[in-house]
This record gives sequence, structure tokens and C-alpha cells, in this order.
Amino acid sequence: MFSRTAFTITVNPKIPPRLRRLEELANNLWYSWDRATRTLFSRLDPHLWEAVGHNPKAFLKRVDESALLKATEDRVFLATYNSILSTYDSYHDASSQDYAGHLGPQDQVAYFCFEFGFHESLPIYSGGLGILAGDHCKAASDLHLPFVAIGLLYRQGYFSQTIDSMGNQQVTYTISDFEDLPVTPILHANGSSVQIEVALPQRIVVAKVWQAKIGHVTLYLLDTDLAENSPQDRYITHNLYGGDRTMRIEQEIILGIGGVRALQALGIKPTVWHINEGHAAFMILERIYNLVEQGLDFASALESVAVNTVFTTHTAVPAGHDHFSAEMMQTYFDSFYRSFNITREEFLALGHAPGSPDFNMTALAIHGSRTHNGVSKIHGDVSANICRDLWPQIEPEENPISYITNGVHVPTFLAQEWSDLFDRYLGHEWRNKMCDTGYWSDINAIPDHLFWSVRQSLKSQMFHGIRSRITDQNTRNHGSEAHLDRLLKFVDPINPNVLTLGFARRFATYKRAALLFENLDWLRKIILDQDRPVLLIFAGKAHPADVPGQDVIRRISQIAQFPEFEGRLLLIEGYDLRLARRLVAGVDVWLNNPIYPLEASGTSGMKAGINGAINLSVLDGWWGEGYDGKNGWAIKPGPRDMEGVLRDKEESRALYEILQDQVVPLYYNYGKLGYSPEWVKMAKHSMMSLLPRYNSTRMVDEYVTKFYRSASNKGTLYTENNFAGAKNIAAWKAKIRNAWRGVTLRRLDIPSERAHFSEALNFKVAARLNNLEPEDVIVELLMHRQYKKTRLSNFNHFKFEYTGTKDSDEHIFELQLTPELCGKQEYYIRIYPCHPLLSHPLEMGMMVWL
Ligand SMILES: *Cc1c(COP(=O)(O)O)cnc(C)c1O
Repeated sequence: MFSRTAFTITVNPKIPPRLRRLEELANNLWYSWDRATRTLFSRLDPHLWEAVGHNPKAFLKRVDESALLKATEDRVFLATYNSILSTYDSYHDASSQDYAGHLGPQDQVAYFCFEFGFHESLPIYSGGLGILAGDHCKAASDLHLPFVAIGLLYRQGYFSQTIDSMGNQQVTYTISDFEDLPVTPILHANGSSVQIEVALPQRIVVAKVWQAKIGHVTLYLLDTDLAENSPQDRYITHNLYGGDRTMRIEQEIILGIGGVRALQALGIKPTVWHINEGHAAFMILERIYNLVEQGLDFASALESVAVNTVFTTHTAVPAGHDHFSAEMMQTYFDSFYRSFNITREEFLALGHAPGSPDFNMTALAIHGSRTHNGVSKIHGDVSANICRDLWPQIEPEENPISYITNGVHVPTFLAQEWSDLFDRYLGHEWRNKMCDTGYWSDINAIPDHLFWSVRQSLKSQMFHGIRSRITDQNTRNHGSEAHLDRLLKFVDPINPNVLTLGFARRFATYKRAALLFENLDWLRKIILDQDRPVLLIFAGKAHPADVPGQDVIRRISQIAQFPEFEGRLLLIEGYDLRLARRLVAGVDVWLNNPIYPLEASGTSGMKAGINGAINLSVLDGWWGEGYDGKNGWAIKPGPRDMEGVLRDKEESRALYEILQDQVVPLYYNYGKLGYSPEWVKMAKHSMMSLLPRYNSTRMVDEYVTKFYRSASNKGTLYTENNFAGAKNIAAWKAKIRNAWRGVTLRRLDIPSERAHFSEALNFKVAARLNNLEPEDVIVELLMHRQYKKTRLSNFNHFKFEYTGTKDSDEHIFELQLTPELCGKQEYYIRIYPCHPLLSHPLEMGMMVWL
């Protein structure tokens, strides 16, 4: 062999002045939901566009000068370019701050997350959590919210997936060249880049701050891959969900602590801090640290930090919550708790979760925030239950964990064909009517045949994409041409009239991707029908450490190779945002069958629903509230304590029955029309019932009106006048904690068992307050008519008045009440601490029932 040196030189095109703003378009992830912009780039050179993975910035650095020069002469190209710029400029027009009124002029929301998914060109996401965070930012931009986001800039991101002929998942990592990503370093006036420092044991790690633009919103990304750092520390921001516990805690320290420092370095002063999943919860410690440095005591600092912090949990199993050993916490946070002037035990208690000695990030996030939520109604209840011990005397259904159901960013996931059709039949203003349920009933105005033909054309496009992916897979796995023909038999873009079911998501075992294969004979009967064939499309990644998840992939791959399933069951590799966009728009039915109640929300079904695909799903996560009886199909989950094998059997039976008796007949119920009118009816109903509710505008709007606004207001109350509010509430809580054990309640009136309608009842109780004042407590009666079990929140609440009388060490409270309904009433009497500065009435977790 010759020994030789490969020299390289990169030649970048000179962007002609006429097209100069292409660079601006390439540097704003606005293109991730503006399809016209992406099409504009691809028209310059479709092959290069594919080769650079739909990345406009990488594209612009490689496109041939001649293509650019040709474009400057192309009148159609220039007209499109100008029209895109005018849309872009009006979107970014700062004067149209229509949403500023919802928050005060000083307000600023900072949103922390471990991953963000906007578009395949910025590979710093793995799945649902990241895409949800991306959609949150996009909606915040659409709404002109004062909003910044903080994350990590991963050098390798998550892995790329291929699947070999044995069904084994193969993992490859690609090193990103940051110059090619839609991010730019933030520079000081003197041209040097903005960096922050974070102390880790025995060393200082430096992180550089990058920014990505998402419309109006800026996302700040931290990167430790710098020459100043040791080789190990350069590795901290290398991959998402890779590495060991040390790597994880260091990543979370960079995000949480480094994130706060980055905002400080940039002069950004958030008034609301949103922690999206526990990974970022260390930010609480850094913010407390800053206040303690200013001279505030720990308890007041904690109150001050928590009051304007919002925490969203996304996990439905306690084991899914991130945690670190007490030793690790000691190693990394020794200096923190010393400076807080609290004991090691007090510090560890911030992360205490029952049943484990570990420091739990969800517990920290809850201790350090006063607004906490799950991501669907069911998940709100599940989370309230998981965290019940944080409010030991409060029933989970009343504790402060509430919910805001997830939503998806419609412009990102809605196919172009639909937005064109909406423009025509609903009018251009549909973009501003995203949450107006009445307005969307106009989908009925779209003629059925047109609706059906859009569905079929989206399926054809999906088939095109699938064909090329399956072809690549087959070639790589050394399959023959003849074999390929078999595989592609049903994915025929010319004739897409085959009922197509899609299942694509992470292959986490609780999602039960293989449920459809419980009873293969039954499945054969359903899908092998000559006249009414069914095509099944599967895709998804399993985490490289998730062995059972990879087993599921292997199982599906093997079934797909049974001769009778060839071509009818396709397993497509490399699930990412791009494939997701195609699948959710192209399939007829979106299948989801997780183990109840483990799907916190799920979002892919929403993406499918807005595109007119119909959901067939277990009533879990968002579908528990999205399903209205007519907009899809529901599998009712077995009881919670049902054993796994039996549950799979029962629920797969329901799945087969629905497919056989309802889905297949409905789809193939063609009249002379050439389509099934009943199918179109259901798809339309699904679209109009889901789109206005499960979009991210509704979601972010709920965060603003329910959480951000009050968090910000309370934040002001706590901090103004040198933290008077925070000190006040901290002192009050200490007083309550001391006294509560001695608080008792005793009834003085004789309970009567019967009363006449309109008769006033008098209740009288004596409360021993153990040195608390009557204003420190609420004595309350809850009543409801007893004919079915109901949540405490559905009881009517009546407040007792303090009579002004004190009898030895007991305060006397009275209530006069006239029941409004007849029949047997059930009632309870209770006392709990209360203070006007609390964020939630039961925040103290203390209560005494009579
Ligand atoms: C929407 C989406 C997800 C989340 O899907 P779920 O159904 O919520 O699990 C995961 N990955 C990609 C690429 C997505 O687009």
C-alpha cells in the first residue's frame, strides 16, 4: 500500500446577493413547519437535498454555484422566494405581539428540557418527549410568548437505526458538524464566544452557549466539547440517553446549573421557570444557591424559587423517574448544601421518594416547584398517586398534581394537501382558529370524494417513501429482486386502495407493539382476505440498552418473514420525524395498544387524527379523553390489577374483534362511489373533533392561563420588598409544621339523621389549634347527594366561620347550611392550614378529618 496523506479543502458557494436571505431561512427552524421553504431549497437540487438529510444549512454550503445562479434567473423560483420571505417577515414582525397581553411586559418564560425535536436536521431528540418540547416552543412562537428554551447540544444526538435480515437492530452514531446544524454560537461584543463554567468534583467544566431560532423563540444549547475541557468532560454532551450514571448526572448538572448560568450570562431574567421532565431539576438548586449568596436563608430561598417554577412530569411508572445514589449526590453537591446551611439529611430530603434511599429528580422537581402537572387526565391521576406521599395527609385526587393534556404542532404535522384544502373550504384564517371547535365543523363542507382522494393521495406518497426505504433495506440485507417484488406487492402508489394500519413509536415494552400478533391465526383470517386485504406498517427504535424492546423488533421482523405475511407486514427502519410525518398522514388507521395506565399521553395518534387517519387505541393517555364514541375505536383496558398474560389475551381479543367486525367492513364498504362514505364520515368527525383540542396552541395557551400567569404573579409577591413574601410564607410554614401534630377537631352539635327541605342545619365544631390562629386554618364541610361514588372535588364545599369564642384551648367554628337537594346526603368535616400566599390550598399536605 502507498502511504499517502489525504488533504481536503471545502469549497462553499458564494450566495448571490439576490438570494442572500436563503441563509437566514436556513438558520431559523421556522422551516420545520413551513413546507414551502423546504420545497424551495429542494428545488435547487433535489438529490443534494436528500443527501444532506433535508438540512437547509448543510445544503447551502454544498449546493453548486451554477444552481444558485440559475435560480437568480428563474422567475418562478424568485416569485416563490419573495412570497416566502414576505410570509416569514410578517410572522416575525415584532409589532404584532398579540399575545403579550396574557403575560406582563416584564415576563419571560424559561423552558428547560433534556431533548428537543423540531426537525430531522437538528438531531437532538429521541422521541415523544423531545418532539413535545419542540412543539411547545413552536406554539410559544406562534403565540408571540416571551419565551426561551434551554437544552444540550449533543454531538452525536440519538442513534440511527437499521434492522438486519435477522431482525436485529443495528445502531450507528453520526457525529454532527455543528457548522452544518441550524445553530450559531453566541458571541460577546469582542467576537469571543459566550461560555459558562460549572464546578464538577475537582474541576471546572466550561460550556459554550449556542442558539437555535424557532420562529420568535430562541433555544439556548450548551456544549462541553471544547479544547478547554478534559477529554472525559468534552464527552459530557456527546449523546442523548447514552453513558452511565456519572455521565447522566453530569449532563443534568450542565443542563440545570449551566442552564441557569447561561441565562444569567445573557442577561435574561425569567419570571417563570418550566422544568419539562425531571432531568433539568438541578436548576432549582442553582437558583436557591444564587439567593442564598445574596443573603436569603434557605427556607425563604426555596419558597422564592419554587413559587414561579412549573414542573411537568411525563412518566407513568416510578421506576421511570431519574434518580441518583446518595453517595453520588454527596460527591457532586457537597458544597451546595454546605452553603445552604442545611444538613446532609435535609438536603437529601429534597429528593426523597418513598421506598428508595436514592435522590429522585421528580421529588426534587416537586419540592422545588409549586405548580406540577401530568400530561393527560389519566396521567394526572397516576402522577398524583405516584407522588401521594409528598402530601401525606391529602388524598391523591385532591393533591396539587393537576394535568394539561399534550398537543401537537399542527403546521408541522399537517400534510400540505390538507392545508391547501382548508384554505379553500375553511378560509385562510383557519391558522388563527386553531382552538375554535365550532369553526372546525366546517370540515363537513369538504366534499366526501375530495376528502377521500386526499387521503388516498397521501397514502400514495407514503407508499413511495416506503418503497424506497424497503428497497434500501432489502439491498443492504442481500435480498433478491424477486423477494423485493413480494415485499412491495401491496405498497402500490398507483393503487393505494388497501386498508393500511400503522404502528410507529419507541419499542418500549409497555407499548406492546406485538399485541397484534397474540393470535396469529385470527390475524391471518383478518388480513389475508383476497378482496379485503390489510397492510400493516411498523416502525420504531428500541433504546440500545433495552433488550426486551429489541426482542420485540426481532419478533415482528420474523413474523414479517412468514411467507403469508410477506408484503402485508412491513417493518421500516430508521423511525424519525421525517418518517413520522409521512406515516401519520398516510395510514388509514393508527394503532396504539399500550398497557393501561402506562402511556402518559402519547402524541402520534393526535398527529394521525389531524390528518384524517382514524385512531384505534386502548383508552389510555390522551385517547382516554379524546375518544368520543364516534371518532375512532377504543379498546377498554382490563382492570388495573389484571395479570399481564391475561390482559394481553383479553385486549388482543378486543382488538381482533374491532378489526374484523368494524374496521375492515367499514373501510371496504364501497358503493358505486368508489369509496366508503361511512369511513369518510368517521374520518371527518375524527379530524374535526381532534384538531381543535389536541394541538399545541391549546396546550401552551393552557400553560399560560392556568400556570405561567399565576406563577409569575406569585413570584412577584414573593420577591418584592426584599423577599418579604417568601420570608413570610417560609416562617408561616415552619410555624404550621411545628404546630400541626397537636391540631384536633371535635364536633359539638348532635348530628341529626333527618331534616326537612329548606330547613337550615347548624354545625358546630371545636378545633384545638395548638397556638395557631383561626386565620391559619380552614374548617370545611364537604357534602354531596349519596347515590354514586364521586371525587372529593365534586362535593360541595362549605366553609365554617370562627365564632370569636375560645373555650379553654379550643376555638369554636360554626356553619349554617340549607341543603339544596333532597335525598340522603353524605358529608365530611375537616380542617387544614391555609394562607393567602399559597399556590395551592392543600400545598402543605396537612389535614385532619373528623
Ligand atoms: C410523535 C413522535 C413520537 C411520539 O409518539 P408516541 O405515540 O407519543 O409514542 C416519537 N417519535 C417520533 C419521531 C414522533 O414524531
